[in-house]
Amino acid sequence: MIELRSTAEIDAMRPAGRFVAEVLTELATHVAPGVSLLDLDRVAHAMIRERGAASCYIDYHPSFGARPFGKVLCTSVNDAVLHGLPHDYRLRDGDNVSLDFAAEVDGWVADSAITCFVGTPPGVDVHMRETAERALAAGIAAAVPGNRIGDISAAIGDTINDAGYAVNTSFGGHGVGHTMHQPPDVPNWGEPGRGLQLRAGLVVAIEPWFLAGDGSIRMDRDGWTIRSGDRTRGVHVEHTVAITADGPVVLTDRSGLSPAG
Ligand code: MG
Repeated sequence: MIELRSTAEIDAMRPAGRFVAEVLTELATHVAPGVSLLDLDRVAHAMIRERGAASCYIDYHPSFGARPFGKVLCTSVNDAVLHGLPHDYRLRDGDNVSLDFAAEVDGWVADSAITCFVGTPPGVDVHMRETAERALAAGIAAAVPGNRIGDISAAIGDTINDAGYAVNTSFGGHGVGHTMHQPPDVPNWGEPGRGLQLRAGLVVAIEPWFLAGDGSIRMDRDGWTIRSGDRTRGVHVEHTVAITADGPVVLTDRSGLSPAG
């Protein structure tokens, strides 16, 4: 069932959005050569405890998962692009790592992701991240009442395709509310004017991701981490967005935030 939020409920979701934005802002400052993915998970976990928030990931156990996720952060390095399970890998100069974080504050969830570079990234990674951020912005701009889900999807997919990359529609955006994954699905490719009509009060996670190569994916042996099938690298960015009569409100906006230090 599609749930629409009142203005008061959207206001009640703001602390969750702000917390998720604060965690990602802080984590970005920790990304450096020699830092392990477990270190990043520990930083996020400490911030969850300090805030009295709840992790959406640690007990997450969908049908495709071999066991509960067990960590609070997804860390996807280089040819890993989604659901990267933190492990003892230490970041190296030239790596890219996407950090995907969702948490619950006061009963409301927010979900957001960033792609970070370790030291000096290859030029293709810079181009991919810039493309992903443009795709996210285009998707957000289309998230207005009267449009349809297909308008968001087409804005994302066209931006990625026009930059010369393939879209894999296996995973995409989703509704967000009291839980992390709710209807509707928000695919990263679609037809303008198709799908559910957007109404004020709909809150969705919009999350473009793609790979440098043919877009094929495979599951890592850890049972969680999604990697490219052809070993090319990927990027992933995400925001939780409330659709309102006044336009899209990015609940996980990081602009104006500075690291906790
Ligand atoms: Mg996410």
